[in-house]
Amino acid sequence: MRTANPAVDLRVNPSITAVGAVDAQKGFMPGTLPGFGELPAPEGDQVAAPLAALAGLGNVFFATGDGHTAQHMSFTEQGGPWPAHCVLDSAGAELHPLIANALTPGWMFYKGTTDDVDAYSAFEVTDLAARLRAAGVRVLIIGGLVTNVCVLATVLDALREGFVVIVVADACRGIQAPGLPSHQEALEQMRQAGAVTTTSTELLIANAPELAVAA
Ligand code: ZN
Repeated sequence: MRTANPAVDLRVNPSITAVGAVDAQKGFMPGTLPGFGELPAPEGDQVAAPLAALAGLGNVFFATGDGHTAQHMSFTEQGGPWPAHCVLDSAGAELHPLIANALTPGWMFYKGTTDDVDAYSAFEVTDLAARLRAAGVRVLIIGGLVTNVCVLATVLDALREGFVVIVVADACRGIQAPGLPSHQEALEQMRQAGAVTTTSTELLIANAPELAVAA
């Protein structure tokens, strides 16, 4: 699978780059361990390893996540579209261990933290953009869950905020639900809006010249 435009230079300067994990939380991943499987994206757990492998390409590794109240408006019990998921301070809201390990302390951003507000992008409801700018970040490398809801919203907001955005396609998974674009359609929307899409392997090779020669 080749998703990158060959004309795009994927080399990044880590001093102005941040790696971001969107909603890489146990509740959005399949499984039966505590917290897993609340609102699972198929293969959702597989976003963690490729994202964590890119941590060295940024000077910040941030994460966003749902941090819902127990009676959140987005839950079906309250008439919302989703089963209960990612309640703050519950196991479902915890990051996948590989993402938790990569996280820069102080760079976790929760959204949907009150009963009556939901947000698919942390840029809507937190100071994420200001924090990134204050840290000198201009380039974002983004992956996570799910491609066609929160990753899409986050990437579109990041582009509106003026960041250069590189989306790591193999570090994203989508869900199927009525009215949503597919994983591939969401990636196309991001490209149309100005994002670069690529893979974790291509990013790693582009930023390791000795590997690029070997390839
Ligand atoms: Zn949610």
